[in-house]
Amino acid sequence: MIKFLDLQKINAQYANELKQVAADVIDSGWYLLGERVKLFENNLEAFQEGGNAIAVANGLDALRLIFKAYIELGFMQEGDEVIVPANTYIASVLAITDNKLVPVLVEPDLGTFNLDLSLIESKITAKTKAIMVVHLYGRVCWSTELETLAKKHNLKIIEDNAQSIGARWNGIRTGNLGDAAGFSFYPGKNLGALGDSGAVTTKDAELAKAIRTLANYGSAQKYVNQYQGLNSRMDEMQAAFLDVKLRFVDAETSRRQEIANYYIENIKNDKIILPSVGKVGEHVWHLFVIRTANRDELQAYLQENGVQTLIHYPIPPHKQECYANLNRVNLPITDKIHAEVLSLPISPVMTDEEVEKVCNVINVFCKEIAV
Ligand SMILES: *Cc1c(COP(=O)(O)O)cnc(C)c1O
Repeated sequence: MIKFLDLQKINAQYANELKQVAADVIDSGWYLLGERVKLFENNLEAFQEGGNAIAVANGLDALRLIFKAYIELGFMQEGDEVIVPANTYIASVLAITDNKLVPVLVEPDLGTFNLDLSLIESKITAKTKAIMVVHLYGRVCWSTELETLAKKHNLKIIEDNAQSIGARWNGIRTGNLGDAAGFSFYPGKNLGALGDSGAVTTKDAELAKAIRTLANYGSAQKYVNQYQGLNSRMDEMQAAFLDVKLRFVDAETSRRQEIANYYIENIKNDKIILPSVGKVGEHVWHLFVIRTANRDELQAYLQENGVQTLIHYPIPPHKQECYANLNRVNLPITDKIHAEVLSLPISPVMTDEEVEKVCNVINVFCKEIAV
């Protein structure tokens, strides 16, 4: 069976170093708010080529904390609106509603799966304070027009960079394009910890300070609480692991890009719509997502033939029970995407033979349903 994602194999590449740093952390007697987190933050800033990095407990918290900080700094208040793609993982939307802000769901572009930037302006009201872009599946969502629009309406642009660490737009890393960005280091992400963790990046030093304080009980000085904060800190163990793996992100991305190119050149059937690639560097292929009207049959066929696939995502946020108030919002493109997408295995540890096999199985299936 070709696994969708072989995490054991991914981390086995770095096992000796990971075990060594784990032993160092255990022996150090210091587990939170220490040198290793600081070092990881510095290395992430270097990787990003600028900005401030704040290590936090997970990707959802990274996004929640950005809004929370904007509220504390007086830039937003309860009831303000945030434009967000309807086609995203639910965490993007939870970060907004958790802060009692109102998500304004906007349809994606069927070609890129990302927010359709041409639809944003008509959604802006007097209450709109921010646009959240999600670089979904690892594909950059950005344009100069978006920057101009945000400036014109005095809106913050927040990037959900959970799936796209390492991508570039015009040479700039995602996470450094907007006003602030949330990263996730969930084990299955392109830079995965061995547990939960995340980070915020921002060029805004005042925002960075507020986020750092909010993530530590609202306290910048021990036992002095400036805000009603949360406990959302990255621990020293995860920081040490991430520091080992951060050095290999660009190399792993190259391998993902190689596999994606192979899929694009070798999957051949008019029943399958392949993902669009963008300019060089604009896609880091966290996921390789195809579309087909025969999605469920294809998934079953691949499974029978030894290829594990997943669906990202089967139910959109606006159709979830927890967002009953959004269930009737009309979002036909988002619904269509959720009915048709299938994610093929893609990871830096897949072998050429495995990638070739995935193509062969898909191409044979297509011939079978064509008759
Ligand atoms: C994974 C993910 C998150 C949340 O990250 P966690 O670390 O799991 O909390 C947010 N947004 C997107 C698009 C994600 O894929």
